[in-house]
Amino acid sequence: MAMKDAIGKKLGRNEPCWCNSGEKYKRCHLSREQGRIVSHGEVAHNFEIAMKHEICLHPDAPQDCTNISKAHSLQKARVLNAIQAFNHVYTFLLPIKGRRTPDKISIDKASTFTGFCNHHDNRTFEPLEKTRFFEGTKEQMFLLGYKAICWEYFGRIALIKGLPTILNSDQGRPRDQQVNIQRTTQLQQVGAELAELNIRWLKLLMDDALKAKNYLSFEAYEVVVSILPGCSLVAATGTIFPVQSLNGKKIQTFDRTNPVRLEGLTFGIDVRGNGTASIVFLWPKADTAPRSYIKSVDALDDRQLAEYLVQFFFSYLENLHFAKTWWDSLSTSDQYLLIELMESDITEPHYDLQRSIAPWRVMSRNWL
Ligand SMILES: [Zn+2]
Ligand SMILES: [Zn+2]
Repeated sequence: MAMKDAIGKKLGRNEPCWCNSGEKYKRCHLSREQGRIVSHGEVAHNFEIAMKHEICLHPDAPQDCTNISKAHSLQKARVLNAIQAFNHVYTFLLPIKGRRTPDKISIDKASTFTGFCNHHDNRTFEPLEKTRFFEGTKEQMFLLGYKAICWEYFGRIALIKGLPTILNSDQGRPRDQQVNIQRTTQLQQVGAELAELNIRWLKLLMDDALKAKNYLSFEAYEVVVSILPGCSLVAATGTIFPVQSLNGKKIQTFDRTNPVRLEGLTFGIDVRGNGTASIVFLWPKADTAPRSYIKSVDALDDRQLAEYLVQFFFSYLENLHFAKTWWDSLSTSDQYLLIELMESDITEPHYDLQRSIAPWRVMSRNWL
């Protein structure tokens, strides 16, 4: 059966393909269903290979760059070490629907990314590494946020590099499946490119502050928690672009057809001494959406705040690490809630703050 274009006209061989690739129909989808079917495992493998890349994200790069090796986005000696058992931590590697059991990963590999050269990695994050514990200085808070934005940026570039392999995975499949794969993947591409723009915008602001070592134009909110004995940390780092506060108030608008810059909020975690840890949110002082969001977080009582933080990490999902002993200690219904959060749309997760899932207790909150 001949393929028709969007308004139902039969497509000629030399006309642009219906999939918007820009290729002629005859070179693109005309005989694609005759191609070899690519298995889901093969698609996943090709996707992973295509996403691999090495880059130094320091603002001075490539000046003074040395070779690139794996950098940890979560501090290894303090954070990953606090949740490891036999040098392994737990994570969910792929958000596959219905997955119930976490994956084990060695602490040498957990949370790593090839986003810095050795020289710039060491120099940039020295103030975080040189102290035995996280001390909560403005510089350390900024650097947690800087690592979070770089990690997020790196991941978005990887996704944009990987998605074309998904576009090519429709060969050998019937037309309706081809249309479905093209449409959903192209929507993902648009989303990834918009996100990349917003992340890059925030990163550029942070690059300037990093170079000047001037963190005055950034605001931070720190929650110090005590880690319950026998349990331990749930660790994550990244960047979100909140569109509504916890009480459901709209704080900024996401419109795919009319993209405006979205204001971002970085977050990270590090270990302080005496059985405590800090969860730090950081954003540009001039931005109102992140502040409104954090105000709604700060309005929670201590018990709710502890629950919110761990459920927030699960709703963010990527780069999430935890101890298996803690996961195994949860009831089936608590595990189910966290899995639902992992699978939910990041913009409107449904938190249940009446639970007792959090492996920590709030000690203090600081605005800086
Ligand atoms: Zn095509
Ligand atoms: Zn470099």
